[in-house]
Amino acid sequence: MSQDLRPPKRRRDGDEGSEASQDPLDGLKRSEEFWIPDGNIVLIAGKTAFRVYRGLLTLQSTVFSDLFASSSPRAEESHDGCPVILLTDSAQDLTHLLRVLLPSSRTFYHRGKDDPDVSFHEVSAVIRLTHKYHIEGLLRQALSSLQEIFTTSFKIWEDDSRRHPISIEHDSAYIAVVGLARLTDTPSLLPLALYKCCSLRGAIVDGWEREDGTVEYLPPEDLKRCINARDSFAKEAFSLVSAIFDPAPSKRCKTFSTCKRVLRKVFREILDHKEVAEPGVLNPWNVFIRDCASLEDEDRCCSLCEGKLLERDTRERERIWNRLPEIFDIEVPNWNQDPDTKDDGDGHDDANSNDAGN
Ligand SMILES: [Zn+2]
Repeated sequence: MSQDLRPPKRRRDGDEGSEASQDPLDGLKRSEEFWIPDGNIVLIAGKTAFRVYRGLLTLQSTVFSDLFASSSPRAEESHDGCPVILLTDSAQDLTHLLRVLLPSSRTFYHRGKDDPDVSFHEVSAVIRLTHKYHIEGLLRQALSSLQEIFTTSFKIWEDDSRRHPISIEHDSAYIAVVGLARLTDTPSLLPLALYKCCSLRGAIVDGWEREDGTVEYLPPEDLKRCINARDSFAKEAFSLVSAIFDPAPSKRCKTFSTCKRVLRKVFREILDHKEVAEPGVLNPWNVFIRDCASLEDEDRCCSLCEGKLLERDTRERERIWNRLPEIFDIEVPNWNQDPDTKDDGDGHDDANSNDAGN
């Protein structure tokens, strides 16, 4: 079957006329979505052929422009008069890219409330291919949509009302986010993506499967970061609950002895709580705290103490948030600066700084 994927063969000198030239599309299927009858170039990705407008691609990508310029179509490398170009990308990835490049498709990443979410597969493909083919404006848009989720700001992370622009169908996608951050030199994505990878436990070594079946794994140095970070998170989790559930009631508490007794009891219970040692150390304890304040009279703390606990919960988690880059041994400029005053946190205006080598 792989014979279908080979580049079109050139006839040797002297072979002319010995047999009819083979159509380079033999054995391939035409894309249902991107087979434009008057398109003037044919792209082959995987086992699918796409007939599109050459000019639209060359306008947006210098790499496509160079690729098409260097192709000198011979009869056996063309189909119906169109040059045929063999790409190394998967058909699924190229479909995602063409959907955002061609004007009949959705071209924007800034979406309204009623617009459907973008799948992570789409975002991943668009980032990888726009990086490879130097389509910079689109790369920046796609990375921005990812940065909305993998934020540098604790305030944004805490905002329950924020709407994620991308649907992440499976937690293993966090592995791919690390890969995209590495590919595009976007370190601001790394602390939260690596933090999320830590919650994968053993599945962290299984990788993330792309739509075409290939699997992306965490680079060994990032796997090491996650393993090392689990120890830090376990220690932080203990100091966090100790600080939040400190049995000292609020200074303004009017039911001091009751609250002190209740907080002591809660603290003992919390130490048995299974989530204390979990890597999800940034998860809020607010539900647990509110439960403590809504028990029967003699078992509950007052609203002042409840407020104090909630305040400590936020403060302690932000303290750990501030340490995330350090815990993962990563430098991220402007980490946790006010989102209204900082730049993209990656120390460069243009996220497209690597070459297009893969
Ligand atoms: Zn109290």
